[in-house]
Amino acid sequence: MALHEILALIKPYCYVADSHRVSIMLTDLAHLQCPYCWESIEVVVDCSVDEQEYTEDCSVCCRPIIISVFAQDGELQTVEARSEDD
Ligand SMILES: [Zn+2]
Repeated sequence: MALHEILALIKPYCYVADSHRVSIMLTDLAHLQCPYCWESIEVVVDCSVDEQEYTEDCSVCCRPIIISVFAQDGELQTVEARSEDD
């Protein structure tokens, strides 16, 4: 088999692998209000998962904010911030 024939066979799979890599790296910027100091903060959220919750320290007061991210088809829907004692 000639090299160009092999490449033609491989190429569609490379394309699929590339588009998959892009889809799992979807991120968006969200603006939140810190539940402790009420400052506005900007966070980078991952939109590739429909629903997730994680803790991130406030960039102003350094206290742990519980962030809930809701996304659909890679698009950010809602971001909620609450304090740890809620
Ligand atoms: Zn804060």
